[in-house]
Amino acid sequence: MPESVISRFAPSPTGRLHLGHAASALRAHDFVRARGGRFLLRIEDIDPVRCRPEHVAGIIEDLRWLGIGWDEEPVFQSHRLPLYAAALDRLSAAGLAYPCFCTRARIAAEIAASAAAPHGPDGPLYPGTCRALTGAERAARIAAGEAHAWRLDVAKAAAVAGPLHWRDATAGEIAATPEIHGDIVLARKDAPTSYHLAVTVDDAAQAISDVVRGEDLFAATHVHRLLQALLGLPTPAYHHHALLTDANGERLAKRAGSPTLASMRDDGMDSEKLVARLRTQIVMPAQAGISGARDGA
Ligand code: GLU
Repeated sequence: MPESVISRFAPSPTGRLHLGHAASALRAHDFVRARGGRFLLRIEDIDPVRCRPEHVAGIIEDLRWLGIGWDEEPVFQSHRLPLYAAALDRLSAAGLAYPCFCTRARIAAEIAASAAAPHGPDGPLYPGTCRALTGAERAARIAAGEAHAWRLDVAKAAAVAGPLHWRDATAGEIAATPEIHGDIVLARKDAPTSYHLAVTVDDAAQAISDVVRGEDLFAATHVHRLLQALLGLPTPAYHHHALLTDANGERLAKRAGSPTLASMRDDGMDSEKLVARLRTQIVMPAQAGISGARDGA
């Protein structure tokens, strides 16, 4: 019997939701509802500075206004830190993670000083400074209480994992190239995990069969696939969708000053009409049958 289709909406409560979020939540929600599956809400609140409880309440209010319901109690990443710590320990014990003591300023200076700093999808790559520290140097600096992040030694990790693939419903079979991101952060100085580690652990813990999210996270999936392999976790099917843009072709991102759902509601907008309009703009992958739900053993 096939396992059920499970997807999620995973907003970070750093501000109010806007139309782009609504479209993304609707896609994941409708994908699941069309297949009789389960839709989950996960609050990605690992950033202690930018995440606010009032934004969590706002997210819930906005989703309810849109008529989007979820099937289990929302999961908060801030309640799950020991799980991410355990995953980090595992990577560290395998010699694939190292402490990084660099400040942002130091990284920027090193990049500026280098003749040809390699760039990844999110900008210049970490130059690998702390990768070169000896075990004794690391231990001494940690013992001295020096603030540090943890980074993945991506070249070593990719070599250990061997060739990896993942499947995107639109783009098809993709060979994973996590090294394009360099040595990504696994745990931040100010938070005991990172987006990449937490999302990988949680998608597996919540048995997510289908990740439906914006194409701005397409490149991140290369890292998620690598972390899945290293941690022995399953790989969901991915459905990266185009992002909503305004009349000028500008992405409706939180920072672009686009109207929030709350302001639309305050202006008297009819949510049913809004949802109907968003749905006409949402074209899910032609392969309606594609899903990551695997046949159970
Ligand atoms: N929390 C992420 C965001 O708000 C989305 C994570 C995901 O869907 O994988 O951009």
